[in-house]
Amino acid sequence: MADIIQLLPDAIANQIAAGEVVQRPASAAKELMENAVDAGSTQIKLILKDAGKSLVQVIDNGCGMSPTDARMSFERHATSKIRAAEDLFAIRTMGFRGEALASIAAVAQVEMKTRLYAEEVGVRLVVEDSTVKVQEACQTAPGTSIAVRNLFYTIPARRNFLKSDTVELRHILDEFQRIAIANPDIQFVAHHNTNELFHLPPGNLRQRLISVFGVQVNKRLVPLGEETDIAKIRGFIGKPEFAKKTRGEQMFFVNGRFIRSSYLNHAVMAAYEDLLPKDSYPLYVVFIDIDPSMIDVNVHPTKQEIKFDDERLVYNYLRVAVRHALGKYGVMPSLDFEQENTLNLPPIAFSGGDSLKTGLPQGECSGAEVARIAKPWSASRKIWSTGRRCMPAWKLPMSQNRTMRLRLPG
Ligand code: ADP
Ligand code: MG
Repeated sequence: MADIIQLLPDAIANQIAAGEVVQRPASAAKELMENAVDAGSTQIKLILKDAGKSLVQVIDNGCGMSPTDARMSFERHATSKIRAAEDLFAIRTMGFRGEALASIAAVAQVEMKTRLYAEEVGVRLVVEDSTVKVQEACQTAPGTSIAVRNLFYTIPARRNFLKSDTVELRHILDEFQRIAIANPDIQFVAHHNTNELFHLPPGNLRQRLISVFGVQVNKRLVPLGEETDIAKIRGFIGKPEFAKKTRGEQMFFVNGRFIRSSYLNHAVMAAYEDLLPKDSYPLYVVFIDIDPSMIDVNVHPTKQEIKFDDERLVYNYLRVAVRHALGKYGVMPSLDFEQENTLNLPPIAFSGGDSLKTGLPQGECSGAEVARIAKPWSASRKIWSTGRRCMPAWKLPMSQNRTMRLRLPG
């Protein structure tokens, strides 16, 4: 019998890979935003049309690309982030598979404009069906803009599989919020159709949580900070009395990357023990910074799961850190705000320099600061951003103008 095995053409191989990387508009948004973060941007803008089904565009002011790199970036396994197998174990950037752009360009119409800072002109590329249709010089700001149009336009089965605009937009905004929370020193803006949904100024982590979740989150936060030789744990946990019926505000980031882990979730919940009402979930935004050689980030195509060399150690360490924070800030029995005999909440010293940009210590956020972070994002419409909901200015609680104070335990 004649030989029958053939190598698949690139376009088909890319489409197959795309099935793993790009499941929905939110996956494209995530990959583009992560690339923008990796490019060293200080401003990242996400523009969406029809919940990303017609358009997902990310504009950044990062390093930009040369015309050759711009073209190369669409090749599969093309990456500037790893050179050798060992790099996989030292990786600290978001991307590392070199597959995202190739996958996206296999299932959508992609337009890229990019320019290096040192160059006067940039390059514009249009890629469809994994084929470069246009490459030309263009006028564009330094940095990169990538527009992904009509996702899955060649694969009606997958397009039909997408959920309603409300659901798809929620998925995109979940990704947006995670990346924004992981990178509070970067300014993030999100537009959907004609609306500006988020305008997040750069700041420290507490400020970022306020601008994402709304001012009311400020009084719920308990700082978390613990450091040993193997790992650093930082972030915030929520006071038990504010625990919610849903898990929406629970996030782990390992070396800046959002991950899901029911095991680590269990560690946090174990620390709360009997402090929580039944079936309620406390907020937590926990950053675990660990030597990259002690984890394997490559176990999941969308990179949301990782493996720790010593999972039990991390589990115990996290449980103790949360327990410690709850005890240290007098959450057991309960915290009291704006009472007499108070002291300012002591800042936690993190070497990460969360507060460098604003000069505010990590643990503190004054009323004026809260007001600044939650500044109106549309003066003309007199609407304030409280993160998820839009609230008319006159409905904002006045108490946020006071300095937040905590009564220290004992
Ligand atoms: P990965 O991020 O895994 O390297 P991608 O397919 O996402 O793979 O991107 C390929 C390459 O294209 C990146 O390694 C990077 O060099 C370049 N690139 C992609 N997006 C940007 C961007 N916004 N700014 C600068 N370079 C980018
Ligand atoms: Mg990438």
